[in-house]
Amino acid sequence: MKPFQRSTSLRKLYRRTPSGKISVIFYRRKDSVAKCSICKRPLRGSMDSSSRQYGGYLCHKCLSMGIKLAVRGIS
Ligand SMILES: [Zn+2]
Repeated sequence: MKPFQRSTSLRKLYRRTPSGKISVIFYRRKDSVAKCSICKRPLRGSMDSSSRQYGGYLCHKCLSMGIKLAVRGIS
């Protein structure tokens, strides 16, 4: 086993090869899609591409709604 294969962030998959040996396949889990924390819809663009406040956390609709409510003093 190579040193990088001892990492716990890698998932292991045991597969039987056609010759009958069991080999281990190492793979990294895919990152989950970023979602809005209010409406749970997937966010467009990547986390670091949005320079807006709450970018990568809230979608544009929920953020505009939140700003409106904050300005009007309703929390
Ligand atoms: Zn939203």
